[in-house]
Amino acid sequence: MTLAPDPSSLELAERLGASARVMSVTSSVALSSCLHEVRLRGDAALVAGVAGNDVMIRLTDDRGRAVRRRYSVRGVDPERDELTLWITSDHDGPGVRWAGGAQEGDVVDVIGPRGKIVLDPLADWHLFVGDLSALGAFYRLAQSVEVPGKVIFIVEIDHADDALTAPFDEGLGVTGIFVDRQGRASDDPAGLLKGLAAFAFPPDEGHAYLFGEFHVLKALAAALRDRGLRDEAISVKSFWRQGHANADHGEPRKD
Ligand SMILES: Cc1cc2nc3c(=O)[nH]c(=O)nc-3n(C[C@H](O)[C@H](O)[C@H](O)COP(=O)(O)OP(=O)(O)OC[C@H]3O[C@@H](n4cnc5c(N)ncnc54)[C@H](O)[C@@H]3O)c2cc1C
Repeated sequence: MTLAPDPSSLELAERLGASARVMSVTSSVALSSCLHEVRLRGDAALVAGVAGNDVMIRLTDDRGRAVRRRYSVRGVDPERDELTLWITSDHDGPGVRWAGGAQEGDVVDVIGPRGKIVLDPLADWHLFVGDLSALGAFYRLAQSVEVPGKVIFIVEIDHADDALTAPFDEGLGVTGIFVDRQGRASDDPAGLLKGLAAFAFPPDEGHAYLFGEFHVLKALAAALRDRGLRDEAISVKSFWRQGHANADHGEPRKD
């Protein structure tokens, strides 16, 4: 039997030009101290879109209200009809509670594909900077870069085992820098700014993708502009904001 999504999901998907599906959880496991992986089945390739896209999940908050949370697609397995999400697990909220408690066979409304930031096809090198919430998006984007491209990751983590790696095509130039947060606040950009300062840009045209905490991204974008990267070469997406739950539609406050 095929389950139908909630009418609110169908209506929202239509407004967004996306699809709504009921997907079932096939697995939910902790990958490291602060990262949890959830796999979902059901029209996966359709809702997963292209590298850089995310999906919107309909959840219930602790007062029983329906809220939506957005998660980047880490990968798609068309043969198994599954998509994978990497979800941070070091805070409390409806999203993190869902991911941690998800059981095989649970069903959930999913709207996708969402998101406008995709790979810049003209860039010779791609710089990915952010926190652990962005790692899944960064790896999917980087795995879609054609050889002989260059990809550089600068990612801030709290625990050494959060430095998860990924396989890449031979011939791709890959540099990964994991910055230890060393107890700094999540909205303190100092660690990633230091990592960025230590990194010499390759020659040719580059594109930077900044995903993560709102205040940190503002500081990173300013630092990249100071180093001469053009606005068109910087894609910024706030995933969350320190001290504020994301709004019911899944976006962090921007004011
Ligand atoms: C387009 C898009 C793609 C995203 N992709 C991913 C993804 O692939 N993986 C992922 O983990 N997240 C991703 N996020 C972020 C995720 O949707 C938010 O963090 C979401 O708010 C988590 O929901 P929640 O219900 O757990 O916490 P909320 O109810 O939103 O927040 C509760 C509290 O936790 C804090 N908080 C939220 N996120 C974090 C965090 N990462 N670290 C520390 N504190 C936090 C908030 O500041 C708040 O104080 C994405 C967001 C967007 C907009």
